[in-house]
Amino acid sequence: MTVSTISTDQSAVRELREFPGLEDIAIVYPDDPGYDEARIAWNLAIDQRPAAVASPTNACEVVRIVRAARILGLQVAPQSTGHNAGPLAAQSLDDVIILRTGALDEIRVDPERKTVRVGGGVVWKPAVDAAAAHGLSVLHGSAVDVGIAGYTLGGGLGWYSRSLGMAANSLVAVELVTGAGEFLRADATHHTDLFWAVRGGGGNFGIVTAMEFRAYDFSTAYAGLMMWDISEAPRVLDAWRRWAPDAPDEVTTSLRIMRIPPIPEVPEPVRGRSIVVIDGAVLADDDQAARIIEPLRALGPEMDTFGRMPSEVLVHLHMDPEEPGPGHVTSTMLRTLDDAAAAALLEAVGPGVETPLMIVELRQLGGAVGRPHEGGGVLSHLDGEFALVCGGMAPTPEFASVVAAAGAQVVERMSPWTNGRNYLNFAEDPTDVRAGYPEDAWLRLATIRSAVDPDGVLVANHRIPRLYEHGEATG
Ligand SMILES: Cc1cc2nc3c(=O)[nH]c(=O)nc-3n(C[C@H](O)[C@H](O)[C@H](O)COP(=O)(O)OP(=O)(O)OC[C@H]3O[C@@H](n4cnc5c(N)ncnc54)[C@H](O)[C@@H]3O)c2cc1C
Repeated sequence: MTVSTISTDQSAVRELREFPGLEDIAIVYPDDPGYDEARIAWNLAIDQRPAAVASPTNACEVVRIVRAARILGLQVAPQSTGHNAGPLAAQSLDDVIILRTGALDEIRVDPERKTVRVGGGVVWKPAVDAAAAHGLSVLHGSAVDVGIAGYTLGGGLGWYSRSLGMAANSLVAVELVTGAGEFLRADATHHTDLFWAVRGGGGNFGIVTAMEFRAYDFSTAYAGLMMWDISEAPRVLDAWRRWAPDAPDEVTTSLRIMRIPPIPEVPEPVRGRSIVVIDGAVLADDDQAARIIEPLRALGPEMDTFGRMPSEVLVHLHMDPEEPGPGHVTSTMLRTLDDAAAAALLEAVGPGVETPLMIVELRQLGGAVGRPHEGGGVLSHLDGEFALVCGGMAPTPEFASVVAAAGAQVVERMSPWTNGRNYLNFAEDPTDVRAGYPEDAWLRLATIRSAVDPDGVLVANHRIPRLYEHGEATG
């Protein structure tokens, strides 16, 4: 195969239109009428303008697109939904084909093996429902329409994580098309380096056409939310942050300080209010679960919905937006949240503070999330006691800048308590990707990327460079 270096003019894109073997694949170009619709990311604040948008319907078509791109010196960026399109769109996409995986939509549950196989474009809700039909649960996150591939390749932190670990640890096999245009199946005994790299290394190593992961033998959990007025934030935060790090593994929660807009779509009890919400799930029987969350109940919430909940309902628990919308998120990892850290956070976003941040969220880490997973991939656990996420609506670029600045201020204010690490699933701006991984993993990731994508055809949102890509051994 003759391979060009990455193109810098539009002649390669022109050649792509005529490239033999691509005629029957849905590919949309900037001057096609459907281009603006095809290029929309789930996050509507992101304006991505690629050289083309391809929507393959099977792995063979993915192979053909990648091989054509490689020959022509173009690049290919896999994208399932565009929940995390920000870092991708921050670079020039003039030579980049965005490959939408939405049509790779198979879902197959194997109740005997207790595994679920999904296509590379499937989002969580239908997979949760399909597993539930067999009395099984899968390790989804807080949003029904996040792509399983993007979420899992980035680690995957959900309501069962402190019990069952990050979602990447439950991956059994991944089928993907490498940057060299090769279709491979990686698992614990085949392409083991690649299997290690994809479990946390994001879309840098291949375009996932299907993945198989473990499903677990339960169909309900003790789950719900508790709510207080924001004036209670100091008391509630104080109790929760003391309880969370050593809470039993069975429980995973989040604490949010929320400023709800006064819009009709929001239910009356919370419309226009500022509140504190703790939600989460406990994998235990009702009595044990109630005992585990008793310290939170003792804080006297004005609303408490905790109780037995089927997994198909639990996936909606966090009330994340279920349709595309414009937003901006800033995040960091906290090694601890001691008295001074809690005071700093409340000074920044607590009662009486004016801020455009609708949500300031702390995710409870620790438990199985905090422990390396035997035989796991590059990201089998997370260091730190909490992940901090600040977000707001970004209906205009000006609004996005205001929300981004407010988020950055909070992260800066909390910097004495951060641990220098990044959880890249929560990083929606270009960021220090290296901080997403253990120090000793970087060279190995770069080596594996060089092997499977020697010409740098793939473009992930969070890029792991190839060896010597920037003239240095590890980029
Ligand atoms: C509302 C909301 C809630 C969230 N909740 C959680 C949560 O609870 N836990 C958590 O861990 N994260 C959560 N996230 C973060 C989410 O996991 C990341 O944004 C993730 O990258 C989204 O994947 P996606 O495929 O939907 O997005 P995309 O923007 O489509 O993909 C992000 C990146 O993943 C890679 N990728 C996607 N699909 C493929 C594929 N088929 N093959 C190869 N690479 C691929 C690409 O590099 C791509 O740039 C949330 C995000 C949002 C916006």
